[in-house]
Amino acid sequence: MGTEHKETILEVKNLKTHFFSGKKVIKAVDGVDFDVKRGETLGIVGESGSGKSITSLSIMRLIAEPPGKIVDGEINFKGKNLLSETEEGMRQMRGNKISMIFQEPMTSLNPVYSVGEQIAEAFRIHQKLPKKEAWQKAVEMLRLVGIPSPEKRAKQEPHELSGGQRQRIGIARALAVEPKLIICDEAVSALDVSVQAQVLNLLKKLQKEYGLTYLFISHDLGVVRHISDRIIVMYLGKVVEIAEKKSLFDNPRHPYTQALLSAIPEPNRKKKKERIILKGDVPSPIDPPSGCRFHTRCPLATDLCRQSDPELKSLGEGHQAACHYAEAIS
Ligand code: ADP
Ligand code: MG
Repeated sequence: MGTEHKETILEVKNLKTHFFSGKKVIKAVDGVDFDVKRGETLGIVGESGSGKSITSLSIMRLIAEPPGKIVDGEINFKGKNLLSETEEGMRQMRGNKISMIFQEPMTSLNPVYSVGEQIAEAFRIHQKLPKKEAWQKAVEMLRLVGIPSPEKRAKQEPHELSGGQRQRIGIARALAVEPKLIICDEAVSALDVSVQAQVLNLLKKLQKEYGLTYLFISHDLGVVRHISDRIIVMYLGKVVEIAEKKSLFDNPRHPYTQALLSAIPEPNRKKKKERIILKGDVPSPIDPPSGCRFHTRCPLATDLCRQSDPELKSLGEGHQAACHYAEAIS
């Protein structure tokens, strides 16, 4: 996929975002590193509670403080550390450099304004277009994201549209500001499977046409697989594996990734691998397990795993895994 020659748009280094509740510290994100290249889709996958949303909210500097705090790390966006950006500077970033698409667009759309107006607003504010032109551009955007009879739909309020159409509105609004990076957090998770595929294909098509860059977060490996070039696997606030999509699916090197993969049906799996079934739930991030955080659920865990936390190590061609036995596992 050749992403190694491309410009890095976003670089997250040793990000730690914790929540403080009385004497307890919830280590929601605890030392996360990754980068996103221009024009690619980087997927982030992991069970619920692994720290995916807190990672994206940290990038947007939308962590409520207190109880949350980014306690360490850097978030370099086009070479600038967002963690030293002013609140006003961040507002500008969020307004026109980094857009977010959420799971339920009802929460980010204003219920009492027409969807056309809400998209037109972006054109008025960011491109300083006069009212009428902004409205026309909004209607064009609705057409672009596949809303039928956009002139008519533009005048409707969010609740008059279906979930799939509302998500298309969310995408239209995110695109209207011509962002450099679009963060999709569970963007299709609330949609029916057939509508999911349509919205994912729309995102792909728009990416091709406009050279968009996505950070695409989902608990659903099937969804992440459909859209991503590279994939990061998170577990309990840490990155456990990162690889090109093909490499991750053909040759997962972390037992957690193997377990996630063996849980999805694969009719034409070539090598019949032994299924790893995950025991129990994700442990609490308040007192995460010692050593490798996955050891309590890992069928391969040894004393070394219980004692020492493995670093991400390189396994060649951009494939990295944080497992003491990554070289031996294939
Ligand atoms: P997910 O991977 O499902 O998106 P999150 O990033 O939302 O996971 O959450 C990661 C961890 O942070 C979870 O254990 C969650 O309970 C905790 N967390 C998230 N928000 C808060 C908060 N406001 N206060 C305390 N803990 C939080
Ligand atoms: Mg989440």
